[in-house]
Amino acid sequence: MSGATDPGAAAPAPAPDSAAGPGPGRRPGVVLYLEAITVRFDGFKALDALTLYIDAGELRCIIGPNGAGKTTMMDVITGKTRPDSGTAWFGQDIDLLTRTEPQIAQSGIGRKFQKPTVFEHHTVFENLELAMAGDKSVWRSLFHRLTPAQGELIGATLETIGLVQRRGELAGALSHGQKQWLEIGMLLMQEPKLLLIDEPVAGMTPQETERTAELLLSLAGRHSVVVVEHDMDFVRSIARKVTVLHEGRVLAEGDIDTVQADPRVIEVYLGQPADAATRT
Ligand code: ADP
Ligand code: MG
Repeated sequence: MSGATDPGAAAPAPAPDSAAGPGPGRRPGVVLYLEAITVRFDGFKALDALTLYIDAGELRCIIGPNGAGKTTMMDVITGKTRPDSGTAWFGQDIDLLTRTEPQIAQSGIGRKFQKPTVFEHHTVFENLELAMAGDKSVWRSLFHRLTPAQGELIGATLETIGLVQRRGELAGALSHGQKQWLEIGMLLMQEPKLLLIDEPVAGMTPQETERTAELLLSLAGRHSVVVVEHDMDFVRSIARKVTVLHEGRVLAEGDIDTVQADPRVIEVYLGQPADAATRT
């Protein structure tokens, strides 16, 4: 890392479409640019010149066999892993490779890991309140008075995640699926532009899976949402555009029918027995 702090300075951005966009090589309507990102672990390329664009408001599904680089890609976007080469921009102005993890979160990228991490001994409402408080102390945020705008945001989020009726219950009493929704709600309290969600329906009942599809669809438009998921029925139910990763590169990209019919995708991913598709 160069240690540069000015995100606008001397960006070595390759030009994906030099005719378009206000900045050099920037595309209008694109919220996330990953260009030629390579990540090496002991010489092994977890990401191999990965190039990927996410549009503002789109809901993108990322699929691919285990080891394809999906989690590493999210680690690069959120600043957890620094690539060996390539460029990563959030919107026109934010060079992700010059920012720390907290700065990236602050700039409007929210990430949901697979395991829900709600505060079990606080109510659903308090969990949302605490999430809004960010790094303020728990005690201060629980006893400070909400502004009308904050109250409205919590109310709207409870509606979005379908937990209005459970607002006064302890988060620890929720089902697995409800905890996942609450955690998505907690991310929404930061009003992120881009949400990264890793395997949201793992361990959910069919009803919870269906409700999660509705929830993610309702977020698209207002947010860009990138979902990594193995459950192909679920992907089919939400996907507009699907990206298939394989060996750290984009193997195929397009609508779900095109991708599922692609012989290369069938060979490396879909054609395998179900257990092989999730092996390491
Ligand atoms: P996916 O999420 O698609 O299953 P990952 O991004 O987790 O894939 O991993 C991609 C490859 O990089 C795998 O071969 C994995 O073993 C390797 N890898 C991931 N993280 C590390 C690490 N910290 N050190 C060494 N190898 C890693
Ligand atoms: Mg992974």
